[in-house]
Amino acid sequence: MTCAMPMPLEIVGLGQPEVRFVWDEGDEDVWSARALRIMCTCAYCVSEVTGAKLLDPATVAEDITVTSMNLVGNYGLSIAFSDGHSTGIYRWKQLLANRPAKATA
Ligand SMILES: [Zn+2]
Repeated sequence: MTCAMPMPLEIVGLGQPEVRFVWDEGDEDVWSARALRIMCTCAYCVSEVTGAKLLDPATVAEDITVTSMNLVGNYGLSIAFSDGHSTGIYRWKQLLANRPAKATA
């Protein structure tokens, strides 16, 4: 079996300020819900014409949380946030290309 596209084994974080993506045994990323909200690439947050960011990060609450998550095909995840925003699709590829810095022991 070949699997070119990485897919998380587990995603945990409903109602929490952080979302944990487990990509593989011992290989995981912890994103803050706020960071995910800010990197949203939907048409409301990023101009489809110019690619310019339309979302002002200052308008995103510090205590924002994820209210629901749904797989989109096998390539990504749609996330609804506590601010009511739910149009963003987070591709695994995008998440892996922007992995948050790991806290080192
Ligand atoms: Zn958006």
